Amino acid sequence: MSVETQANSVSKGKKPTRKLNGPVDLERIAAAVREILLAVGENPDREGLRETPERVARMYEEMFSGLRQDPAVVLRKTFTQKYDEMVLVKNIGFESMCEHHLLPFLGKAHIAYVPNGRIVGLSKLARIVEILSRRPQVQERMNEELADLVMQELDARGVGVVLEASHTCMAIRGIRKADSVCTTSALRGVFLTNQSTRTEFLAHIQTGK
Ligand code: ZN
Repeated sequence: MSVETQANSVSKGKKPTRKLNGPVDLERIAAAVREILLAVGENPDREGLRETPERVARMYEEMFSGLRQDPAVVLRKTFTQKYDEMVLVKNIGFESMCEHHLLPFLGKAHIAYVPNGRIVGLSKLARIVEILSRRPQVQERMNEELADLVMQELDARGVGVVLEASHTCMAIRGIRKADSVCTTSALRGVFLTNQSTRTEFLAHIQTGK
């Protein structure tokens, strides 16, 4: 991996405290994972576990890559368009990490907005979901952040965002309800003030899954 190459090219005998492909300290994660393995009574040096700490470190780097990206930038390229009906992108799949247990929660996002003269490429909505999900998250906050972002960056007349997700921290531990789905929503602007906009949005996301 390029991680090693980059780190080696600048280290002059002295080990850098951070790998230079970004602010993720892979060595530190790996050391911590090794500690966890020791703490639960495992032998991190046995064959099957030997590469696990580094592997987990790279996994966290990927799962938390959204910490090093600004979703607002994604929405800055807009197009002027006279269109004042609802724009809806639904079933945007995401995988995030619950910040309480560092276990994944997986689901889909539905994002709708009513433009105010400016629209954004549809794939950009999927992109901001990707960025915000690749952080330690709680579903409620991710939902609010998505709504506020679209509202602010597009200066939209209104925004509706619904997230549906299953949380592995509920499935594999604690209460162990594997089939439960958590639904959250955040409404802004005309989605709050106009009943028919809200009804249209909810009707769209409930049909044709
Ligand atoms: Zn959790």
